Amino acid sequence: MDIPYLDLQAQYQSIKSEIDSAIQNVVNSSAFILGPAVSEFETAFAQYCQAKYCVGVNSGSNALLLALKALDVCSGDEVITAANTFFATAAAIVHAGARPVLVDVNPGSRNLDPELISLALSRKTRVIVPVHLYGRMADMDRIMQIAENYNIAVLEDSAQAHGAQYQGRLSGSIGKAAAFSFYPAKNLGAFGEAGAATTNDPSIAKRIRILRDHGAERKYYHDLIGYNACMEGIQGAVLKVKLKYLDQCNQARNRVAGWYDELLKDVPVILPARDEVFRQVFHLYVIETAKRDQLQHYLSEHGVPTLIHYPVPLHLQKAFDFLGYRVGDFPVAEKLSREILSLPIYPELSQQQVVYICEKIRAFFNGR
Ligand SMILES: *Cc1c(COP(=O)(O)O)cnc(C)c1O
Repeated sequence: MDIPYLDLQAQYQSIKSEIDSAIQNVVNSSAFILGPAVSEFETAFAQYCQAKYCVGVNSGSNALLLALKALDVCSGDEVITAANTFFATAAAIVHAGARPVLVDVNPGSRNLDPELISLALSRKTRVIVPVHLYGRMADMDRIMQIAENYNIAVLEDSAQAHGAQYQGRLSGSIGKAAAFSFYPAKNLGAFGEAGAATTNDPSIAKRIRILRDHGAERKYYHDLIGYNACMEGIQGAVLKVKLKYLDQCNQARNRVAGWYDELLKDVPVILPARDEVFRQVFHLYVIETAKRDQLQHYLSEHGVPTLIHYPVPLHLQKAFDFLGYRVGDFPVAEKLSREILSLPIYPELSQQQVVYICEKIRAFFNGR
């Protein structure tokens, strides 16, 4: 059996006529940047996230950057985030002029450890950026409590957590603002680059709206130095159609995760933590084993592609040499980077395919 790591065609084929006509409408109207398709998506996505405002931009990376700028982050400030996140989270902090202060994660949740956040605070801390990694929300109650005590803003990195919940509250509705990515492989994926910021604060929404269009509220009158970062009309149109199916897709991912949980329960690998208060959306299904590299090689020889999210923790990335971190600074993130493996997961993955993958994992540990 040859199993694709990801299958973006399957969903497209199932809703092809709806998507095609939404794209055709944008082409017919020539509303290629922003326009009605983007505003309709913004309204629908804000409502979906139970947030008051949504501002569509051209990537998750820029959603992070513009949100940090709108939160008044500037040079000399410190912004706390997780050592095991995707590079873009910390790059946005540097692009905003601030210094990323990395914090280790909890080995069970693989998300920011609130105890360690407290130790990383300083007078310069301006924002905390919890990352809802792999589709599981960070410990938002405790993070919001710390932020309130110290009068710091929280920006959720929701790039992997569209529709994820923590105690019944949705990703993107809890922090001062949140950044989403609609990179094609994300749970809600565009047909190219796209992202959005959500917030309940009208002044932050307004600032992001201005920043995405070169700082001009009125064309050619620039109040701020902004960016060329508007969402494209075609992306808004595609996303608005796909948003209707997001819950269904997340449920299907959960079903796949349940099959993995069951079929791997007596295999010597660590499975994603399960916890009643979280509705996880399984952007990724990540297992852990000390034999990660051998297992990955074995699986690839048997038609099962896997990936590593991510092989190098941020403090050991060459680009962040200037932050002065060293090996050993974040032991949990370092151990995870050596032992994690992302198995294929997407709504259309069949039970038969999951059974095959799990048989191969079992065979590897049985020395066959
Ligand atoms: C994908 C991702 C981003 C960046 O989003 P882009 O749309 O690719 O710019 C940021 N943070 C995390 C955690 C991500 O997974």
